[in-house]
Amino acid sequence: MTTFRELGLAEPLLKALTVEGYEVPTPVQELAIPPLLEGKDVLGVAQTGTGKTAAFALPVLQAMLAERSQAKRKIRALVLSPTRELAAQIGDRFAAYSKELDLRHLVIFGGVNQNPQVRALRRGLDILVATPGRLLDLVGQGYIDLTEVEFFVLDEADRMLDMGFIHDLNRIQKLLPRQKQTLMFSATYSREIRQLAATMLHTPTEV
Ligand code: AMP
Repeated sequence: MTTFRELGLAEPLLKALTVEGYEVPTPVQELAIPPLLEGKDVLGVAQTGTGKTAAFALPVLQAMLAERSQAKRKIRALVLSPTRELAAQIGDRFAAYSKELDLRHLVIFGGVNQNPQVRALRRGLDILVATPGRLLDLVGQGYIDLTEVEFFVLDEADRMLDMGFIHDLNRIQKLLPRQKQTLMFSATYSREIRQLAATMLHTPTEV
């Protein structure tokens, strides 16, 4: 059986996984982590409950570890989620896996007062987990700079399409640097998802 160590994960992450009680990688983790650590774009078809959050969070954290942190934090990873519940869950996972790391994350979503989010943005962060509408809103107000993003994750992309976020996704993509690693996860492998992948991903590994 493959271990997390054999997948190439670094020591601080292995420690966090032991604390979480994860013994072996799930199938989506086993398939997605190696190409992601190599810097490839990945299209992952996986349902909730398969361990897909760790499949993208661990390689993103590892890549961010490898680079010396700058004097001032800047958003280097952007994770988009269709709903606030999912965004909060993703934030919880990043918190668990990065306890020992000097990386800060923030979760933002709509339907709540923006002021606490704006204050947190001003303090600086490395990883932003967001729903599309509030993200664009705060970008428009000048509180968020996405020009340094190196990792772009679209989680539950099929639900984002179902919820009518396609125009938001296209707008967000235009705000990101051309040179970046993109990860897209979807529960379905529909024609729409393949079309979206064709516009968002660069020669992706499909898992
Ligand atoms: P997800 O599909 O990302 O929502 O993850 C579903 C649940 O599985 C979460 O509660 C994770 O903490 C847990 N999980 C993820 N990967 C593993 C693993 N390798 N071993 C045990 N539990 C895991």
